[in-house]
Amino acid sequence: CGIVGAVSTRNIVPILVQGLQRLEYRGYDSCGVAVYAEGLRRARSTARVAELADQVAAERIEGGTGIAHTRWATHGAPAVHNAHPHFSHGPGEAAPSGPGRVAIVHNGIIENHDELRAALKAKGYRFSSQTDTEVIVHLLDSLYEGDLFEAVKAAVQQLHGAYAIAAFCKDEPHRVVGSRAGSPLVLGVGKDENFLASDAMALSGVTDQIVYLEEGDVVDLQLGRYWIVDRNHKPVQRPVKTVHAHS
Ligand code: GLU
Repeated sequence: CGIVGAVSTRNIVPILVQGLQRLEYRGYDSCGVAVYAEGLRRARSTARVAELADQVAAERIEGGTGIAHTRWATHGAPAVHNAHPHFSHGPGEAAPSGPGRVAIVHNGIIENHDELRAALKAKGYRFSSQTDTEVIVHLLDSLYEGDLFEAVKAAVQQLHGAYAIAAFCKDEPHRVVGSRAGSPLVLGVGKDENFLASDAMALSGVTDQIVYLEEGDVVDLQLGRYWIVDRNHKPVQRPVKTVHAHS
């Protein structure tokens, strides 16, 4: 299982797909990708990443901001509707298959998913998967007031368990926010573009400038800048390491 994310001015779908291919060795039962393209678009599959690549090409899914995932199911069967990225459409009667507002990928397990799901259902959120992950995206949507970084900082305080996450929102198209606790996540620093991945190898050939995020960190990726806060939400500088690829 693994995560890749990117914010760039170029089409990052090939980078996301190649990153997933470099994470295939970890094992997975399904995979998916979502990008911003005047709204959220996604493709998900229970086949190999190669098939997902064909699907995104056929559907012409392209964009400069996006997230991608290989899933190792823990909650909910391996099936397309349980594959990540998951979307939130906001509370109310919006069709679960309609265009979303917030998108997320997640590795790990959210232990308190039942109580969070009950609270979100009471607020009118409708669930379209059996995953623990879907509670995170609706929680984020419920906390979103125009600043995804603030929403993620507030959301992770309510999560119990292990996670690495990457999220983006159609209202802030040049931004991806990540966080980790108990699952790995690195930041890849590029020139006017930034990346997230479960390990540095997923970004080989894209950038060798890697920041290893620490437990509880929340990271804000934009085009020409990134920003990290620690588990207490204090701004921190983490060392940027030059990682040499061995592939
Ligand atoms: N618990 C999540 C799920 O079952 C994430 C699994 C993973 O780490 O890939 O969808």
